Amino acid sequence: PLLSVTNLSTSFRAGKRETTVVKDISFHVNPGEVVAIVGESGSGKSVTSLSIMGLLRKNATVSGSILYNGQELNALSSKERRLLRGSEMSMIFQEPMSSLNPMLRIQSQIGEVLTIHYPSISKAKIKEKTIDLLTQVDIPNPIETARRFPHQLSGGMRQRVMIAIALACDPKLLIADEPTTALDVTTQAQILSLIKRLNEQNGTGVVFVTHDLSVVATMADRVLVMYAGRIVEETTVHELFDRPKHPYTIGLMEAMPTLDTKNERLHAIQGNPPNIVNLPIGCSFHPRCPWATEACKEAVPDLEEKAATHYVRCIHVKKEGIE
Ligand code: SF4
Ligand code: MG
Repeated sequence: PLLSVTNLSTSFRAGKRETTVVKDISFHVNPGEVVAIVGESGSGKSVTSLSIMGLLRKNATVSGSILYNGQELNALSSKERRLLRGSEMSMIFQEPMSSLNPMLRIQSQIGEVLTIHYPSISKAKIKEKTIDLLTQVDIPNPIETARRFPHQLSGGMRQRVMIAIALACDPKLLIADEPTTALDVTTQAQILSLIKRLNEQNGTGVVFVTHDLSVVATMADRVLVMYAGRIVEETTVHELFDRPKHPYTIGLMEAMPTLDTKNERLHAIQGNPPNIVNLPIGCSFHPRCPWATEACKEAVPDLEEKAATHYVRCIHVKKEGIE
């Protein structure tokens, strides 16, 4: 695999208290594959992606193994990780404004990345590549846009610029954390198909983080569903949508808008998202789970293979068709 994450746990210190927000996560991404991480806010999905990128603050502790092309990222210095981020791994976030420099024209920001990635690149080549990148992300009038400042662009155009910057390093791995959440529906669809196209054309492996299951169907090959810092379900996108097994995933599916329910109130999962500093004993989902029994309050269920390549963390899901 391109990326192989094994027993990843991430905790944060605040005073004397240490809170573990990602618990024993294992998954992999093959070259050219899109793996979606789905969950509500506070489920640990963003912390998982920041742990992989090495972008957490000093009060964070990351344990377990993160192998990128066979190289252990947790063993690298922060300088080595920064170099890797500039060259092979890129990340795009929900709010592009927070990653763009408001004082610099778009061309300078893309130029900066190109200069880091190709130290001997000429000025003319930078200009040419900048226009080429802006064209690749479907920005109209790329020459004019290159001269603009971030605040002169719409949210959708800024996100396209961020993707162009991410592409400037020709990454093998792209981590996209809620890249379309702040955008209107039309722009959202355009950005998603852009990411998908880059994945297909360049073979870029993608980790796609979202709270919205409906965008996963068109994007992902495989899906991890996270709840309270743990993976509760993992399988292929087809299997997940055909045969969701964990009651939390089933609840997420029922909360998805469809054409005929679009004007009605959505069925939402009962109860509140879990408080990660004060989780219930046993299965973290039991206070909200329609199937919960007393046995669910005893221990955290294991993530088990319940059907072929379909892993579920629930004691009341039966095994089917496997020993
Ligand atoms: Fe629900 Fe129990 Fe399964 Fe947890 S283990 S998801 S509470 S049925
Ligand atoms: Mg997040």
